[in-house]
Order: sequence, then structure tokens, then C-alpha cells
Amino acid sequence: MENLHYTRRTPNESLCLELIMNNRNLSRADLATMTGLTKATVSVIVKKLIEDYLVLETGIGSSSNAGGRKPIILKYNGKAGLSISIDVGYNYINALLTYLDGEEVSIFQKKPITLDEETIKKYFAEIFTSFNEILPKTNYGVIGVVLAIHGPVYNGDIIFTPHHNLEQISFRQIAEELSDYPVYLENEANLSALGEYTFTSDSSSLISINMHSGIGAGIVQNGELQVGSHGFAGEIGHQIVVMNGEKCPCGNHGCLEMYAANKVCFEKFAQIKSMDYVNSVILREYYQNNDPDAVQVVKENCQYLSIGINNLIAHYDPEVIVLNSSLYREIPDMIQQLKGSLKNRFSNKVIVRNSSLNDKATLLGGLVLNLQHFLDVERVKLIG
Ligand SMILES: [Zn+2]
Repeated sequence: MENLHYTRRTPNESLCLELIMNNRNLSRADLATMTGLTKATVSVIVKKLIEDYLVLETGIGSSSNAGGRKPIILKYNGKAGLSISIDVGYNYINALLTYLDGEEVSIFQKKPITLDEETIKKYFAEIFTSFNEILPKTNYGVIGVVLAIHGPVYNGDIIFTPHHNLEQISFRQIAEELSDYPVYLENEANLSALGEYTFTSDSSSLISINMHSGIGAGIVQNGELQVGSHGFAGEIGHQIVVMNGEKCPCGNHGCLEMYAANKVCFEKFAQIKSMDYVNSVILREYYQNNDPDAVQVVKENCQYLSIGINNLIAHYDPEVIVLNSSLYREIPDMIQQLKGSLKNRFSNKVIVRNSSLNDKATLLGGLVLNLQHFLDVERVKLIG
């Protein structure tokens, strides 16, 4: 489908729009100072952005110390359109409809699901129908749909999924047949990193680690998502931490996610206790009661993950590492244990914390990707 919404902006337009989005209380004069453009050029650009409904003139700022007229303040119009994100997990589907500033309009959650073509068709149809029924009136309507995939994605295509054969489900085609919107695919951990970067952090370098059945990371450096040459950047679950270790579906042995994924932790504990099912809440209850098996399983998880994180820090030296794991969320103690295991000299400057967005990190990252395509901007900060 031809993407009718796509806007190619001039670099100066993109730059001005980005600055208006990322800073409160900017005037035309501030923009001229920050960009080095002439006031006349800035005025032309701002006029275009206002005509495109993306920038609003709000209140009056304080006059400069040189006196003169009080400047008009420019503001990003986050209500000019809407964005849809769909997170397709291995046993759940979450979808979010938001305005372009991240304000939630509607949310869709389904769990458990079986991950196959028919199920995806059924729930995608439900998502689009329910969202379209309540779509608020905006200048642009829905600017795009972002599908979060739990496996590597490169140039918008799924390339390899070790635990589930996602590449055999035509996610994009299904979404395109059910909607008139542009559809983009991206790896869920990459999207989480974009969500954290834009909505929770003022850092320019951040790594977001998502732990479910596998472990993936999204890496943002100097405001840019690092996807690598083949889409495998951030596949930290497949770094080898044990020589000749457990066989991983990726083909290697001893991959981190064979030792530190939430699923592995739950299965190990279930096996020790002869239980059918374990999740983060159940494990937390045992841990809080000082059950020695729970304490041991948790400790091992932290130790293995700390090896992975130590490697990440050595490679990328980020300002912040954000963890998105139900396990670390339920047992915040694990963050402290993890930090305790990160003992080398360069890792003590890195902030390691739990996500405050939780499941919404990926979905809000979808909004950021939509904004990057629609507005032709790269680095967006929409905190608070
Ligand atoms: Zn592997």
C-alpha cells in the first residue's frame, strides 16, 4: 500500500520541529539561536509547521533582557493525530491507541493466546474495529501502526525467531489488509528502548533489556537506535556465557537466555518444587518467605544476568540500563543483587533500574517509531 502519510521534511524543518518537541517554552528567537538559522528562515519554517498543525503558538514568554516585545512560545501539537502500537508476545497481544504525545486513548489486552496466523487475524481485526469505533477526531487521524515482534527484525522484516516460527506468520500483510494505515515492524526490545529514551530518560545513551521467554536488548546511542548490519544488534540473550553449555535453539551452546530468561528461572523452580506452574508472583512469595530454593534460583539469575550486563557495559558504556522483566519488578531485591555482581571498575557509573513503563515501554516505543516516520524526526524527548 502506498504510504499517503509519509512526510519528507527538509533537515532544517526536522531540526526545528525536534527542538520544539524536546524543549518547552521556545520562541522563534530561541530557535534561531539554537539552530544558527536566520530569524527569517526560522519564521518561514515555523509558519509551515503551524500550517501542518504540528506546532501551536501558546502564551507569551518573558521579554529578553534587551527589552522589546515579549516572544510567542511555540508548542508541539501532540493532538494532531493518533498512533497504534501492537505488541505481539508469545502468549499475549497488547495494543495501544494514543495521541502523538503519548496520551492514552484506548488499550487492548488479550492473554493467553496461541501464536498462529488465524489468532493474529482474529485479534488484529478486533483491535482495529474497537479502536476505529472510538477514534477521536484529529487533523491526521491514525499516522501508522507499529507491530512489536519478539525476534530480530531488519528493514521491516522478521529474520529469525529461535523459540517461535514468527517468520511464518504474515503480520504485516494481515495488518495492512485490515487497516488503511502504514504498517511498520520492529523488534520489541528496540521499541522498548525508544519508549524509555523518549518518555522516561533525559540520557542520550540507554540500553533497555526485555526479559520474557528470551532476553533482548534495545540500544540507543546518541539518541539513535542501533540495529546493526543485519538486525541482530541487541540480541544479548545469545551471547555465550558458558562454554559448551546448554544447547540454544539459535544453534549455539551456552547462550545467556538459556540461563537467565524468566522462563528458565520459573521452570527451574517448578522442577525443584515439583510444581506445574510458576510465575513471578509465585516465586516472589517463596522468596519473601526466605525459601532457600527460591533464594538460590534468584541468586543464580542475577549472577548470569550480571555477566551479560557487564559485557554490554564493556561494549557500549551506556548512561542507563533499564530492565523490563516481571521477575525484577516483583522482586526489586534482584536489582540490588545484580548491582552487587557488577563489580568491575567501569560499571559503577552506570545507572541500572527497573522500567517505570513496564508493558507500555514497547507500545510507547511504537508511537516513537511512528513519529520518526511521520514527522521525519530522529531524537524525541516527551518527558512529563
Ligand atoms: Zn542462542
